[in-house]
Amino acid sequence: MSKLKEKWSSPVHNCDLCLTSIFEYGEFLDAKTIYGPWGLICPKCASSSVSVNGVEKEMTVGIGQIYKLDDEGDWAKVGDLNGQPYRRTKES
Ligand SMILES: [Zn+2]
Repeated sequence: MSKLKEKWSSPVHNCDLCLTSIFEYGEFLDAKTIYGPWGLICPKCASSSVSVNGVEKEMTVGIGQIYKLDDEGDWAKVGDLNGQPYRRTKES
């Protein structure tokens, strides 16, 4: 069974929120933020919460995709948020 992996075809730049190099994480999200715009977001920012009008909210709103750096040096899609805020995968 061959399942064609979806890959990120654009250049990967630093996290839109904290400007940390995405390569430090080996993972990023292309996701809609609580502020409205989409962004290329590092796992740390994506799993953070922010205060919006005094209410604590998740940074991501459950719309977006997760990409991981694979063995070939490509960014392969590993999942969708599917309506759930991003949770950082635990170290195994
Ligand atoms: Zn960040």
